[in-house]
Amino acid sequence: MLHFQYNVNLKSYNTFGLDVEAQIFIEIFTSEDMVLLVQSDVFKNHFKLVIGGGSNIVFVSKKIEGLVVKNAIQGIEIINKTKENVIIKAGSGMYWHNFVLFCIENGWGGVENLSLIPGTVGAAPMQNIGAYGVELVDVFESLEALEICSGKIFNFDTNQCQFGYRESIFKNSQKNKFIIVSVTFRLWLKPVFNVSYGAIKDQLAASNHKELSVKAVSDAVIAIRKSKLPDPKVLGNCGSFFKNPEIEVSFFESLEKKYPKMPHYLLPNQHIKLAAGWLIEQCGWKGLIKNNVGAHKDQALVIVNYGQATGQAIVDLALEIQASVYLTFGIKIEFEVNIF
Ligand code: FAD
Ligand code: NAP
Repeated sequence: MLHFQYNVNLKSYNTFGLDVEAQIFIEIFTSEDMVLLVQSDVFKNHFKLVIGGGSNIVFVSKKIEGLVVKNAIQGIEIINKTKENVIIKAGSGMYWHNFVLFCIENGWGGVENLSLIPGTVGAAPMQNIGAYGVELVDVFESLEALEICSGKIFNFDTNQCQFGYRESIFKNSQKNKFIIVSVTFRLWLKPVFNVSYGAIKDQLAASNHKELSVKAVSDAVIAIRKSKLPDPKVLGNCGSFFKNPEIEVSFFESLEKKYPKMPHYLLPNQHIKLAAGWLIEQCGWKGLIKNNVGAHKDQALVIVNYGQATGQAIVDLALEIQASVYLTFGIKIEFEVNIF
């Protein structure tokens, strides 16, 4: 039985805390109900938007004329276990961090660096979530997605997902064409740790863990994130608003002459990654507040809602930041968040 609700406030369903109403709203807990929903007249006859935790979305209008589907498909299943790996399938509406905690409790490695990322398992492949040198693709096996136009479920392997830096086929050519219903992961029974990134090593050294373990790495990541990032429950935000730009080495060399302290990282594709947060900070945006919106005082890459901001005010500030970075450095920083 599908339970539609009308004129539902989405403030608690998006981490920017935007006061937006959905004309029609439904929460779906099983993949069978998701199939039923896609076949329903309400679904077929309206604009529709699927959300998970709403932690990568900005709503620009005050009312969404159409159907908002809150995906809450649960479930976790061990598919196979070998000497080295465990293959595990999770429902797409499960909270990502709960999935990570389940893996940590079992001592399975691979997702510990991705601890405390908000949102759901099903949205994780959308932008190939990443943090501290690990991306979803590193532990990804396959996913099941419901095609909206046919109602059929398709299986996607790694190649078919076309993962890139905060990208996948579902954020590009297949945007809004599929609903991801489950994701299958390959985790490690004897993990190899990746602690070279950012502040993890220092954090581990400061903690008094007895030996390196998935739990120790996860705890270190959680501690760093809690100390650096604004908690959306206190200050509305969607994490990094922009992607880090990748530029040609020759362009970087010309910039470096003017900005010798510019943080930069050589990528395997022989491009240079710059830290978008640093570029924004250099343009004077860090800590500035305009129309209840601002670039966070500790991490300028995170745009925050100081209480009563509208989605349009957030996007307007982001466009101003984007223009000023372009004017100063000649680099167009792209939005990472999804605008609706
Ligand atoms: P939503 O915001 O609900 O949706 C995002 C997009 O995916 C929308 O286009 C939506 O339509 C679509 N979508 C959602 N579920 C499905 C589905 N089942 N099928 C098809 N489409 C779907 N991201 C990182 O990569 N790394 C980080 O370290 C990180 N840190 C963050 C820290 C904070 C404090 C915050 C607020 C955000 C952070 N993010 C980070 C961004 C965000 O958490 C991730 O992008 C997350 O995967 C979004 O999940 P969600 O369920 O909230 O997606
Ligand atoms: P940070 O450690 O202050 O580093 C700033 C930027 O430099 C990061 O964006 C990171 O790029 C890059 N970087 C740092 N060390 C690197 C290395 N050894 N090799 C290559 N690149 C390196 O960043 P932070 O803001 O505290 O975030 C820490 C991690 O969490 C980062 O991986 C970041 O992506 C992730 N995070 C993501 C979001 C989001 O919403 N997407 C929000 C918060 C944190 P990368 O971003 O490419 O890793």
